[in-house]
Amino acid sequence: MSTMIEQGASLRIDNCGKTYADGTRALAPATLDIARSETMVLLGPSGCGKTTLLRIIAGLEVPDQGGRILFDGKDLTKLPIERRNVGMVFQSYALFPNMSVADNIGYGLKIRGTPRAERAARVAELVELTNLSGLEHRRIDQLSGGQRQRVALARAVAIRPNVLLLDEPLTALDAALRERLRGELNRLLRTLGITTIYVTHDQAEAMELGDRIVVMSKGAIAQAGTPREIYFAPANRFVAEFVGAANIIEAAMDSGHLVLPGGRQPVNDTGSRARVVAMVRPETIGIVAAHASGLTGIVDSVRFAGDRQRVVVRDAADRLLAVDTPNKTRISVGERIGLSIAPDSIRLLPEEGQ
Ligand code: ATP
Repeated sequence: MSTMIEQGASLRIDNCGKTYADGTRALAPATLDIARSETMVLLGPSGCGKTTLLRIIAGLEVPDQGGRILFDGKDLTKLPIERRNVGMVFQSYALFPNMSVADNIGYGLKIRGTPRAERAARVAELVELTNLSGLEHRRIDQLSGGQRQRVALARAVAIRPNVLLLDEPLTALDAALRERLRGELNRLLRTLGITTIYVTHDQAEAMELGDRIVVMSKGAIAQAGTPREIYFAPANRFVAEFVGAANIIEAAMDSGHLVLPGGRQPVNDTGSRARVVAMVRPETIGIVAAHASGLTGIVDSVRFAGDRQRVVVRDAADRLLAVDTPNKTRISVGERIGLSIAPDSIRLLPEEGQ
């Protein structure tokens, strides 16, 4: 397999908002820079504006007045999709069902008038890269879902696009296949090294595939950052709850401690707020003997999940706390336990509306 070469253009989304003709404000003006070769995931719930932003980048929608799309610094805002050299893969792959795998992959090159020999070489290269060897002459309707997805991707990148745009390409597949293909897609995107925008509402997909993730909510960017930044340092409550499991605690503060029903918990606090909203991830809470911690609670339930167990604890915070512990720790319902939380695992969130 070839090593990664950087491909594609850098992309600037400059002040791009979108109000549809019926007055729907689908997107508040957004500005983002995506580096050449970077994979940027747009993540958010249904209706948050992900597809709208993707379509603006593609040239299928025009942004509101003042918005601009630049590839490698060149303003393409006024150019239609066919002049932007973008590759697209949708949820429904939109392949030609009665054409062969090879003809599908080579389609974009053919309509661009690429000479036959060059086309054949490029198709062969992509067939190998996407693990479709031996299937070149199959018709699309004779392929599995995963194979179709790979053909769609090969077809999209065959034209050496400036930017590859993927809109929920795995959503139509069942859960097990989706997880396997996520790994495959990740490897492929790294190998291709092409600038990619990937739309999904699946946070596991976003975490695995994104160099960076843009979390969107109600037509606005809630946070842009690396998967680790988004997970460990969510900018607000929406991001904390949308990405991964999160305990949200409301508590009074007293000299660097959360004052909770089950005791006091130190935090790294720089502010002077009297009350805070804090987030702590279930896997960052340890279970210790009750006498060994300043924060205790009662085990409400234990759910074995194979690779770990989820312990729900009451009376420690203002609400139930979820704790993920190793699967061999013996814990009984009704037992009083101590909770061990490193101060830097607790993230104080900005007040609502900020
Ligand atoms: P999903 O995951 O469900 O596809 P999304 O985050 O991609 O959602 P968009 O498709 O960008 O969301 O839609 C954002 C908002 O704009 C929604 O409220 C949607 O109903 C609205 N919208 C989308 N297209 C149009 C249109 N052509 N005219 C009017 N409103 C639209």
